[in-house]
Parts: sequence; C-alpha cells; structure tokens
Amino acid sequence: MEENEIYKKQPLILIVDDTVENLHVLGNVLKTENYKIAVATNGRQAIAVANDIRPDLILMDIMMPGMDGYETCKKLKNIPETSAIPLIFLTAKIDNEDIIKGFKVGAVDYITKPFNSYELKARVRTHIELKISRDLLQQKNEILEKLSITDGLTGLFNHRYIIDTLARLVDENKRYRQPLSIAIFDIDNFKRVNDKYGHLFGDEVLVKVASFIESTLRKTDMVGRYGGEEFLVLFVLTDLKGAVKSAKRIVDGVEKIKWEKKDLNVTVSGGVCEKTNEDISDLIKKADDLLYLAKEKGKNRIEY
Ligand SMILES: [Mg+2]
Repeated sequence: MEENEIYKKQPLILIVDDTVENLHVLGNVLKTENYKIAVATNGRQAIAVANDIRPDLILMDIMMPGMDGYETCKKLKNIPETSAIPLIFLTAKIDNEDIIKGFKVGAVDYITKPFNSYELKARVRTHIELKISRDLLQQKNEILEKLSITDGLTGLFNHRYIIDTLARLVDENKRYRQPLSIAIFDIDNFKRVNDKYGHLFGDEVLVKVASFIESTLRKTDMVGRYGGEEFLVLFVLTDLKGAVKSAKRIVDGVEKIKWEKKDLNVTVSGGVCEKTNEDISDLIKKADDLLYLAKEKGKNRIEY
C-alpha cells in the first residue's frame, strides 16, 4: 500500500458487545467521525471477524456470556494476524483490579460505561492515529529493508546480498551435504554495446537480460547482479546436471531476446559448477575460470 493510501484509508473499527443496544450507541457516535464500523456480539465471532477484516481498532465489552472480553483479548493477542490490533475494553465497573487485568491481557486502554461520547471519540482517535503511525513506520522499514538488498538498476539482489546468501548456502552444504551449484554469467561484448548505443541503452540491455534470467529460474533459485554486466545464479539443491540444463536455457534464451536496434545481438557466456569441497572464494573462482574458458572458446556458450 502506498503511503498516502494509508492516510486516505477510512479507519475500520470492530465493536464487540453482547448487548445490541450498546453496539448501536457506540456505532452511531463513531460514525460521525468517518470511521467504518463492524460489529460482533460474542468473543468467538469477534475473533473470526477480526481475522477476516483486520480492523484498525477493536472496542470490546468485558462482560459477555461464554468467552468473556479478557479471554477473547488473550486469544486475539496469540494470533499473529490479529495480535497487533489495538484493543480498548468497554467496562461498566471502574475497579482497579479489572483495569489492571485488562492491560495485562494486552488492551491499550479502557472506556467506562455509560459512555461519554467526547471521551470515547478522543480515545478512539488517539489509538487510531497511533495505529496509522505504526503502519507507516512498518511500511517504511519494509521498503528500506528491500532497498538494502536490491540492485537499483536491475531490481535483482545486489552483490552483497547474493554473496551473503551464497555463504549461508555453502555453510549449509558443509553440514547437510545437499547439492549446490552456481553459475556466473557475463554479457558478451558489453563494452561494444555501450560504445555503440550509449550507456542508457546499455542499462536497458542489463535490465532486460537480468529480468530474463530471473524469469527462467525456479522459485528456490536466486540471481544477483554480481558485477557490472555479471550475474551470479545460485541453483539451490541442484547438482551439476540440473544447473547445466538451466544455464543452457539462459544462454539460448538471451540470444533470442528481441531488441529495437535491428543490428544488435546480445549474448551471454557462463561458467557453471557444483560445489564439492571448496570454500566460497574457491567456488566462485571455479565458476569464474569456467566463464573465462567459455569466453576463450568463442562466447555465447557455457563451460562446466
Ligand atoms: Mg456485556
């Protein structure tokens, strides 16, 4: 969701009370504040509805037959999908014990009955605003996290992230002996593309080749931009035979990409190998040497 969509979104409040009259009173007060209202009349229903609609705030009566407010709140806090939804208790008693118990099970606030509509609106507004700020912060963190592992031009994983991932896989391979293969691809004669058509078009070539490589991979495989026009592919749980098959598909496919420049022919070369006993740097060197050999042997091919 875009940042302004979070702001624009009409806040959704779930009201839970076994007394229908209370639902009406609360609903009518809150509707004047431009909130969307959903209701439930018991704990079980409240959990199902909250799971379904993910409200921004829950107002919940404590005294309900069957599952009471405390128990319902506890359950909501134990479900990952609903645990972060702020919950305010509605209570007829202003007993310290009850209030403390409410906070202990995870409520953020309480409102006493009979309601003072001014107080009700003020408390609801505060917690809705807090919820929106938290959502925005979380969204920003997610964006930052994504940016920190992504190559800005191609959208693939960046050098650091793909190497970190390889290091982790090499480590797992040592312990569990499951197959792991890698390939390094390099766009052939890329300097000529840049010289002839300019760097902007060169960038376009990088983007298109990157997204083609990514599109050929299985969900478990990964590709990162290893260097300028180099891509590192991790074939997870794959032996050499499987990796070679995938790598050939990449070489054949890149050659068939259609370009707007009629005389342009883009190809890649690749070095493919399976990990045996090497550490990460030797494994990369092995793939690099094979890539070099593929270039020596005329490019637009793989060596393994
Ligand atoms: Mg009640």
